[in-house]
Amino acid sequence: MLPNVRREEWYQTATNTNWTPEYVDEEELFPEGMSGKEQYDVPDDGWEEWEETYKQTAREYYETQHEKDKSIYSVSSAMEQSDLPHSLGMGWEDVLKFHFASVPLLERAAVTSESMYARFAPDSAWRHMAHFGAMDELRHAELQLRIPHSFVKEDSQYDWSKKMYHTEDWVSVAGRHLFDDFKAANAIDSALQITFAFETGFTNMQFLALASDAADTGDIEFAEAISSIQTDEARHAQQGTAIIEILDKYDDLDRAQYLIDKSFWRCYKLFAALTGPSMDYYTPVEDREMSWGEFMEEWIVDQFLENIENTGLEKPWYWDDFLKTIRRADTSHFMAGGHYHWRPTLPVATPGVTEEDREWLEEKYPGWEERWGYKWDRHAEAMRNGNVEKTIADDLIVLCDLCQLPAIDCDHVHDHNRLRTYEHNGETYFFCSDQCQWIFENEPERYADHKSILRRFVDGDIEPQTLEGALEHMGMGEENAHERGIDFRAPDWGDDWKDWNRSSSVTGKSDD
Ligand code: FE
Ligand code: FE
Repeated sequence: MLPNVRREEWYQTATNTNWTPEYVDEEELFPEGMSGKEQYDVPDDGWEEWEETYKQTAREYYETQHEKDKSIYSVSSAMEQSDLPHSLGMGWEDVLKFHFASVPLLERAAVTSESMYARFAPDSAWRHMAHFGAMDELRHAELQLRIPHSFVKEDSQYDWSKKMYHTEDWVSVAGRHLFDDFKAANAIDSALQITFAFETGFTNMQFLALASDAADTGDIEFAEAISSIQTDEARHAQQGTAIIEILDKYDDLDRAQYLIDKSFWRCYKLFAALTGPSMDYYTPVEDREMSWGEFMEEWIVDQFLENIENTGLEKPWYWDDFLKTIRRADTSHFMAGGHYHWRPTLPVATPGVTEEDREWLEEKYPGWEERWGYKWDRHAEAMRNGNVEKTIADDLIVLCDLCQLPAIDCDHVHDHNRLRTYEHNGETYFFCSDQCQWIFENEPERYADHKSILRRFVDGDIEPQTLEGALEHMGMGEENAHERGIDFRAPDWGDDWKDWNRSSSVTGKSDD
C-alpha cells in the first residue's frame, strides 16, 4: 500500500525501470545515435547511479505546478483591467517584445529536447525527470504565448511572439542556429549543452535578473510569470549536474568539456545580443537595478563558475578573455547600437539613448562615452537636422558564420575587433571571435552548409539585393512595414542633447 510507505522507501524502486528488454534488443530500444552511450566511457550499470538532487513524484509535480499556474493566472486576471504593460512606457514594452519574440518558441523547442531525454536517456530516473522537464517547457511556451496574445490588439509587434521563429529574421536565424546545434545531438550531448550550459547558466539571467527589473518597473504579471518559470528551470536543469557526476566518475570528461566550452560561448553571444540591450538600454533608466555587466558578474561569473568548479570540469579555455570582455560589455553596447541602426529588422520600438541613459552607462561602464558616445552623437545630430533616414542603415553587415550575429566581437582589446577568416573546401568563412572560429574548425562539416543571411544575399537568394529585399526575406516586407522597429523618441530626442557637455575625446573617434 503505497500511501503508507514513506516516499524515500519507494521512490527509488518506482523510478528504477531499467529493465532488460525481451522483445527487442537494447540497441533497437535505445539506438546509439539517440542515447549517446557509446560516446562516453560509462558502463551500462554506471548510468543507473544517475541521481538528481531534487526528487519529485508525479503527484507532487502536478500539485505544485497547479499551484504555480493558479497564482500566475490570478495575477493575470487581476491585471486585466489595468493598463499594464502599456502604462509602463515604450522602453519597457521593448523589453517585453524582445522577450516574447525570442523566448516562447525556444521553450517549445525545449519540449522536444526534454521529450527526447524522456525517451532515450540511458537511465530511467533521468527519463522520469525529463518527463517533467518536457511538461515544464510546454507550460513555459503556453504561458509566454498567452500573455503577449492579449496585447496584440493594441500593438501588432507583439504578434512576433508567435511569428519570429517562422521567419528568416536575423534574431530567428541566430536563435534557431544555436538551439538546433544543441538539440541535434544524442541525449547526453544535448542535455549537457541545454540543461547545464544554457539552463544552469543563462536562463537565470533571462528569468531572475529580468524579473527583478520587471518588479522594479511595476510589471507584476511578467515578474510573476518569469520567476515562476525559473523555479521549473532550476529543477530540471539539475539533469546536467547529475550527468556530469556520472561522467566524472567513469569518463575523461574531454567530450563534456568541449561541449560546455562551445555551448557556453554560444549562449553568451546570443544573450549579449538580446538580453544585454534589454537591460542596459530598453528598461527605463530609473528602473534599472543592475547593469547587464553586473548581472553577468553575479549570475555567470560567480554562480555558474561555482557550478563548474563543483564538478570535475574546468572553466572554459577562454575564461580570462571572457571576463575582460563582459566587464566592458562591449558586445552588448555594440548590439544595442546595431538594434538602433538596423531597427526596421526588429519588431520593437528601439529608442535612441537619452542624456540620463548616457550618464548611467558611463557610471556603470567607465569609458562608455569615449568608446560609444560619438556613435550616438552622430545619430543625434542627424535627428536634430531632420535627417531621420540617416540614422537608419541602408546596407547589411558581415555576419558570423557560426553565431550568425554581426561579426564584430567588440573585444576588450580593440585590435581583436577584426574579422577572422577561415578557408574550408574552397569557401571563405567569417567569424566574430576566436571562439566562434574554434567551434567551426572543430566540426566544419556540421556548420559549413548553413547560409547566413549575408551569404544568401551574396549568393543571390535574396532579391532585390537591397535592404528592402532583405527586409522582405526577414518577414518585414512592405505588407508588414507597420511592424518594423521605429525610434519612439524620434524626432525629438536629439534635441535633448543640444547642451550635452562632451569631452573632446569623444567625437569622431572610430576604432572598430
Ligand atoms: Fe523553459
Ligand atoms: Fe528548461
